[in-house]
Amino acid sequence: VKEEGKNNFQFFTSEMNDLISRKSKIAMSIRKGLELGEFSVYYQPQIDIETERIIGVEALVRWNHAKLGPISPTEFIPIAEENGMILHIGEFVLRTACQQTKAWQDAGVEPFRVAVNISAKQFSQGNISEVITSALEDAQLAPEFLELELTESLIQGATSAITKMQELKAMGIHLSIDDFGTGYSSLSYLKLFPIDSLKIDQYFTRNINKDAKDAALVDTIIQMARNLGLNVIAEGVETLDQLVYLKNKHCNQAQGYYFQKPLLPERIEELYSKV
Ligand code: C2E
Ligand code: CA
Ligand code: CA
Ligand code: CA
Repeated sequence: VKEEGKNNFQFFTSEMNDLISRKSKIAMSIRKGLELGEFSVYYQPQIDIETERIIGVEALVRWNHAKLGPISPTEFIPIAEENGMILHIGEFVLRTACQQTKAWQDAGVEPFRVAVNISAKQFSQGNISEVITSALEDAQLAPEFLELELTESLIQGATSAITKMQELKAMGIHLSIDDFGTGYSSLSYLKLFPIDSLKIDQYFTRNINKDAKDAALVDTIIQMARNLGLNVIAEGVETLDQLVYLKNKHCNQAQGYYFQKPLLPERIEELYSKV
């Protein structure tokens, strides 16, 4: 029994070691991965439900690690937030997205916005408006083609967040609240913050045709957004049933596998060229 106990203990620690070393491997190889060009950006179309036309794309970062293979952003973004590398990843995505959007416009793709995810740390620590101004200028992209997806968590630093948002808004940049409904913020910030749209989290979208309570929440979010004069975009739309439901409730925008998965930039160009 003693022997077994000992073996179990060793097994447990070696499993833990594997986990720790994967995490620290990831943490330590972000900088090098950026230098080596292991990171790239995919783009997922955002659709106007009424016209079914593209109104924007969301930029989603991808990492193909030399040794570990593809790593999901849901795994490496939290690690990068912990060790500060999110500032570098975030700037890479922002610059790539602005340059790509300008390149599409130059190539005759119908003009649409690019939405970039901004983590709370990037928003609170970085000199975000300088980074953004520089990315737009270098890409020669007009600010109205950029949207920032912010989460409720950055609302913690309330007053400084409002000032930064107002600054960005004054530049002509669009602002949206991502994963709306999953945070714990007070709704009163919706009145204070100069935002253009709310994004309904895919957690709610998934169940609208199955769960009456999720459906009720989605109805309420749509109603509230429309009453406040905001756009409302449902993410994670995978089926026609979900789309029809959203359309009947006057949700005006949608994004999800029902339309397109996140795509390579060349594919976006093929799909949305003007002629
Ligand atoms: P998010 O911002 O909520 O992005 C939506 C996620 O849902 C993406 O996962 C997207 O690929 C996925 N998705 C889109 N349509 C559907 C659908 O119909 N069904 C399902 N099941 N999923 C769908 P992805 O690309 O793995 O990104 C995961 C998360 O990682 C993002 O969630 C975001 O929080 C974070 N992330 C991704 N790129 C960036 C980035 O450049 N910067 C920051 N700060 N975070 C990022
Ligand atoms: Ca997002
Ligand atoms: Ca989201
Ligand atoms: Ca999410």
